[in-house]
Amino acid sequence: MGTGAQNGILFKDAAAIETLRHVDTLIVDKTGTLTEGKPTVDRIIPTADMSQDAILQMAASLEQASEHPIARALVKAAQIRNLQLSAPLEFKAVSGFGATGRVDQQSIALGNLTLMHQCNISVTPVEASEVQSQIEGRSVVYVGINGSIVGFITLSDHVKTSTSEALNMLTQSGVHIVMATGDHHRAAAHIGNQLGIHSIHADVTPEGKLALVELFQNDGRIVAMAGDGINDAPALAKANIGIAMGTGTDIAINTAQITLVKGDLRGIAAAKQLSVATVRNMKQNLLFALLYNTIGIPIAAGVLYPFTGMLLSPMIAALAMSLSSLSVVGNALRLGLSQKRQMA
Ligand code: ADP
Ligand code: MG
Repeated sequence: MGTGAQNGILFKDAAAIETLRHVDTLIVDKTGTLTEGKPTVDRIIPTADMSQDAILQMAASLEQASEHPIARALVKAAQIRNLQLSAPLEFKAVSGFGATGRVDQQSIALGNLTLMHQCNISVTPVEASEVQSQIEGRSVVYVGINGSIVGFITLSDHVKTSTSEALNMLTQSGVHIVMATGDHHRAAAHIGNQLGIHSIHADVTPEGKLALVELFQNDGRIVAMAGDGINDAPALAKANIGIAMGTGTDIAINTAQITLVKGDLRGIAAAKQLSVATVRNMKQNLLFALLYNTIGIPIAAGVLYPFTGMLLSPMIAALAMSLSSLSVVGNALRLGLSQKRQMA
């Protein structure tokens, strides 16, 4: 645990170290886990008679109350344009879909297509196809005000520089990688193709992520789930091992057994390797202890006495006892040192 902590991998309990080496499936969230989770606003496209600034002002005002990465991006974009934000009322986060509330006496809904349907906001086929033509793998947020669509906002996010290497390391150690995201299919496929992830589940709700974990578990697989958001928490709790990004939400961190402080996914491969080495070390230690006892106890009981007249004085027994502790501690320290060297 100490070696992990020094390398930005926080284990909540020792059981996680033992289980991790058996993991054969990693389900991974996209936004904030594979990607930086720091999206930036690309375009604001009005579909009704409303200016870009007015749309952004409404959207960002509502998002002041949200901790979703998209929310932070919208607020930042509004600040860059020097827009005056209003205080949101009746804010409600709809995890995995978006958010709703009231701003300047108007009701506003922000999020994906499903949220618009839930709020009875109709998106015409023309509008939907316009969105399709603009997104090219970006995330999209529909903006509905007082029950009708006024426009949509596209955002793009970068894959973390460490992600590709991390996935290669895990694939090589025999782990099957699956992406599960609440984002739409084109955005998911865009990132999946960049990273060579073939198993992609898009438009997945928080319950859907949980169901996916169960699906693999029922198949006899040992599943790790990596995520950063409130929407990932149920799946993090259900997985054999939940892995949260330290850059993510508190809920995710509290639910997971492992936290990667800087959100660097290479930590998962390193932690898995640490798990293998730790359990090997534990077995070696048991062997040491067993060895001292299987030799010492029979001699002390006198098995050699008839042949050689040899007995063990209690002082030697005490010495052997301490030596056994020393070898166990020494071996554990050796692991600590060699792991530190490897991880550095
Ligand atoms: P992921 O699973 O990739 O982390 P989420 O489940 O958090 O993604 O979000 C899925 C989709 O729901 C987003 O792409 C966005 O369209 C919408 N969404 C979620 N939360 C918000 C929000 N606070 N503001 C706007 N849109 C949101
Ligand atoms: Mg996420």
